[in-house]
Amino acid sequence: MLTVDDDPGVSRAVARDLRRRYGEQYRIVRAESGADALEALHQMKLRGEQVAVLLADYRMPEMNGVEFLERAMDIYPGARRALLTAYADTSAAIDAINVVDLDYYLLKPWDPPEEKLYPVIDSLLESWLASDHRPVPELKVVGHRWSAQSSQTREFLARNQVPYRWFQADEPEGRRLLEAAHADGMTLPVVITAAGEVLIAPGETELAERVGLPTRPSAGFYDLVVIGGGPAGLGAAVYGASEGLRTLMVERIATGGQAGQSSRIENYLGFPDGVSGAQLTDRARRQAAKFGAEILTTRDVIGLEANGSARTVRFSDGMAVDAHTVILATGVSYRQLTAPGLAQHTGAGVFYGSALTEATGCTDHDVYIVGGANSAGQAAVYLARAARSVSILVRGPSLRKSMSHYLVEQVEAVKNITVRTCTEVVEGSGDNHLERLTLRDSNTGATEMIDAQWMFVFIGAAPLTDWLDGTVLRDSRGFVLSGPDLPLVGGRPVGWPLERAPYHLETSVPGVFVAGDVRAESAKRVASAVGEGAMAVMLVHRYLEKL
Ligand SMILES: Cc1cc2nc3c(=O)[nH]c(=O)nc-3n(C[C@H](O)[C@H](O)[C@H](O)COP(=O)(O)OP(=O)(O)OC[C@H]3O[C@@H](n4cnc5c(N)ncnc54)[C@H](O)[C@@H]3O)c2cc1C
Repeated sequence: MLTVDDDPGVSRAVARDLRRRYGEQYRIVRAESGADALEALHQMKLRGEQVAVLLADYRMPEMNGVEFLERAMDIYPGARRALLTAYADTSAAIDAINVVDLDYYLLKPWDPPEEKLYPVIDSLLESWLASDHRPVPELKVVGHRWSAQSSQTREFLARNQVPYRWFQADEPEGRRLLEAAHADGMTLPVVITAAGEVLIAPGETELAERVGLPTRPSAGFYDLVVIGGGPAGLGAAVYGASEGLRTLMVERIATGGQAGQSSRIENYLGFPDGVSGAQLTDRARRQAAKFGAEILTTRDVIGLEANGSARTVRFSDGMAVDAHTVILATGVSYRQLTAPGLAQHTGAGVFYGSALTEATGCTDHDVYIVGGANSAGQAAVYLARAARSVSILVRGPSLRKSMSHYLVEQVEAVKNITVRTCTEVVEGSGDNHLERLTLRDSNTGATEMIDAQWMFVFIGAAPLTDWLDGTVLRDSRGFVLSGPDLPLVGGRPVGWPLERAPYHLETSVPGVFVAGDVRAESAKRVASAVGEGAMAVMLVHRYLEKL
């Protein structure tokens, strides 16, 4: 409850009487000017607190009670409003009933409060409690539906399993939050932390730090540094830490990797009904942390060096850590469609792997999915629950070659999914967001322009391993070579400095291992990535024993 009166004595007395009766259930906030009271409301709004009752004195210099209540309505439209007036001002109070939709006016003095104040406040509270006033204490993101940066921020939070509430900047509650944050809405998104701190278009590292995701290592030296926090990295972190290795896992964006973006993994051992990638990731991350693994997010590794027996891992901001051993578990990243008009709409109608985050926005819309592999099939089934229609655009003549049998059956069983084979996207267009796609039939060469606001692309992935150039050997596509796959010269792996042969998952640098999708000839499955992570740890032990 907020009360405002410019007379300090009256202000204290109102607050005291309110506290006496309501202090156990409500916080009573007192201000001595309209401006101070508005600022207090802004702060409460940012912290996600609710305001039940506003009680304002009518006669105040600079901003009278009616003007204050009018402005307060913009911040807390649901709060009940009462004006405190002297007898001489009752006609102003009556006018205010129309101007600010006043619920009550109270005459000064209000003694005894049991008769003159509490019955009024009780009735205001009763009507407030009956209305929708759910508290919003969590993180809030105010942004634009078609802004790439807003989309990126939501994706980042979702993938890191940080709960947040999304408000569109052009809707009333979004506008109220922007006003409370003193943000002009020109730079979006605006993130408001649970503590009420305002971040304007924050970078991922700043955001991670503010929401409590660790971004800095606690030590300078580890037994094992795992690069990449997908299933392979998480597997390595769980086994490494549980077996007593001082383990650091470094992840660029969010733990879970590709698997974290999967709506339902149906072929992972032990989950006969399937498991969402987010759930699996969350459990794995907690398991790794429980065993004492340190997990950093938003840290991009851009360098790896062998310095004697130490392996040095460099981050993009210049920071570095040393370790006895390293496991490369950097997986693969989505390939982008290169057709004209698409790059500028990334995050504004064109999405790479963000089906889970954007699903609610697609409600009752037509959705296009590009790709014919399992990831496209999963996304189609997931999005079809809310979308009006889902069209899968496939280059080949059928899904059966590229998608698992069980998923093809699921896709065929969903009524609002259609599959367009032999179809390529050749252009996208629109002003602020994607509005149209041009499709080409690869059999006839005929093109067709269709209205399209939502397109999700799943056209395969590539390892982003250029930063390993000159350090570890990779194949022509950038996948890391290891163990028996390392090229031999005169019966010995190229550049290999030791007498013994490299262990199975060991790269061309002793003590540097590779696991999961980034490994050349890997299976590209969650189970095999986890298994390789665990196996790499076993080989780390073997390496450390002989160090
Ligand atoms: C939508 C979708 C659905 C899928 N469904 C299934 C399924 O049902 N069943 C199945 O078995 N498989 C499925 N897969 C495949 C499976 O997810 C992958 O095989 C698995 O995630 C590979 O794990 P990984 O740890 O090797 O790599 P990734 O999952 O790719 O993780 C690698 C991680 O390393 C991070 N990274 C990369 N470079 C750096 C760097 N330089 N510094 C720091 N971090 C870095 C990345 O950000 C990423 O988080 C699916 C994939 C997708 C995309």
